[in-house]
Parts: sequence; C-alpha cells; structure tokens
Amino acid sequence: MKLSAIEEERATRLHKEALVWDSHCDTLLDITAGKRSLGERTSRGHLDLPRLREGGVKVQIFAIYIDSAPYLRRTLEFLSAFYGEASKNRDDMELATTSKEIKEIVARGKLAALLSIEGGEVLEGAPEILPCLYRLGVRALGLTWNHRNELADGVGEARTGGGLTKMGIETVAQMNNLGMVVDVSHLSPAGFWDVLEYSSQPVIASHSNARGVHDHPRNLSDDQIRALSAQGGVMGINFAPHFLGPAGDLNAVLNHIDYIVHLAGIDCVGLGSDYDGIAATPTGLEDVSQLPNISRGLVARGYTDEDIKKILGENFARVFAQVMG
Ligand SMILES: [Zn+2]
Repeated sequence: MKLSAIEEERATRLHKEALVWDSHCDTLLDITAGKRSLGERTSRGHLDLPRLREGGVKVQIFAIYIDSAPYLRRTLEFLSAFYGEASKNRDDMELATTSKEIKEIVARGKLAALLSIEGGEVLEGAPEILPCLYRLGVRALGLTWNHRNELADGVGEARTGGGLTKMGIETVAQMNNLGMVVDVSHLSPAGFWDVLEYSSQPVIASHSNARGVHDHPRNLSDDQIRALSAQGGVMGINFAPHFLGPAGDLNAVLNHIDYIVHLAGIDCVGLGSDYDGIAATPTGLEDVSQLPNISRGLVARGYTDEDIKKILGENFARVFAQVMG
C-alpha cells in the first residue's frame, strides 16, 4: 500500500484519535494456562499490553472460551486469571463494565478491558446464574461455539436446521434485561434468525466476516448482514485467513469492510481480530501492534474521517452503550 506523506499523517492522526476497539481475542487461554502474562511483550501469540499500546487499541474484549467440562469452574478460573492480570497491570488496564467506565479508563490513558464468554455451555443449563456472571463483570455472551448445547445449535450443526431452544430464548431475554450483549458469531443460521426475532436489543457478531466475499460457514450471508444492521447491530471483521479468503491478507480485511459497508451501511462494521484464537494471521496484520495498517488502508480506500472512526470502534461503542448503559 502506497500512501502520500499527507495521507500517512492523516492515518496516524485518525488512528490516535479513534476509540480503537477489538471485539474478540482469545488471549485468556494462554494467560489462564500460565503460559505468559499480559504485561510482558512476548513473541508468543498475537496480543499483550505492550503490543495493544503499539497498535493503538483502547478497548479490548477478552473472551472466555471453555472447550470442555467443568465449564463453570473453568470460567471462574479464567475470570480469576483475568482479575489477577488486571490487578498486576493496573497502571495499564482496567476492567470496564459500563460505557462511562470505558470513557474514564481511556481518558486515564489505559486500556479498557471488557469480558465476554464464548459459548453458553458455561451456564451448565442454568440461565438463572447469568446475573452472577454479570456481577463478575461479563458483558457479552455468545450462545454457542460451533457445536450444539442447551441453548442452541452452533454453525457446525447447521445441517439439522436447529435454532434456539426454549432455554436459549429465555437466556436472550435474561441478557436483554441484565444489559448483556448477545453475540451471534458461531451460531447456526436458524439460531441467528431466532436471536434477531427474540432479542429486544441490537446484537453483535463479534468475530464474523461476509460470505459474499468468501463463502465459509462461519461468515454471514448478505441477508444476515442486512438484518443485523437493520436492527442496529455490528459485526467485527475476523482476521483468520481461512475466513478472509484465498489471499488472507490486510487487503482481504479491507475487502470485507468495503463489501459490508456497501451492502448494509457504515454503521454495522468493526474489528473482531480473533487474535490468539487463530493459528495464522494476515500479512500486514501479523499481531495487534499492526492495527494502524487498517487505518492506512481505509485512508487509501477513500473513507472519510468520520467513517474510519466508526469502523475502528465507534460502531461497537454505540451498541454496548445502548445495551449495557
Ligand atoms: Zn470464535
């Protein structure tokens, strides 16, 4: 990508001013396993506090992904590991649970960290424990990973056409009441449409791309993207090369952004890197420190200042403000 000196200056300024927001990383897997600490810059993985700072990230959603039982106990272990890191690195990051807190933390020059859970297995069939998870700081939940659980069918179960169970519908209602954001990434198509029907609040696809650019089951169809947007929702571009398409590079990320903007408007797209949850990363976005390249790319593609700030984070900030307050 070739930018003029003036364009380079503009991209740098915009990236610095913007509320750069990444709506999904799996870094807590390494942290909870004791493989590394958030505060140290390592060559392992894609994301840590020094590299978040280099990448200009102001808001990072840390996902809790539990792949096997005991789900709830392991969730508590992940939360404990996260709190430990937040305490150890209190000069650089703080947990945010409201939009006001996000603003205050960012104004103090720190990373605002939000907590999400990826997969409703953690409820162990008891949506009534959601208020407890809310009190522990969790502000978003994906109902499924790729598999079937008590709440819904994941995208890996799409063949049967199954959507949300009664318990899944009850969970969505509880989340709406509590002020937790429903995340539809990984849900089966029928589950996606059920969530849109039953949620009284806009929802997010924290780390999903467009099937119109690359036809992968984890990506959203044109109809899904238009409906998500019409309901005020936002989707975060996932950097996994096999979701992006054959090239799997920075340009492919920009292609997904362009496509979604033209299809459903400027207000429904953001970033959901999936760093530390993906085996490979795009050329030009090798780790989170490279995020300024997205601003350079958006400048090169002719987006306005206002549009670039929406894509970098204001769109996600809008949904979270509406849902969690
Ligand atoms: Zn995921």
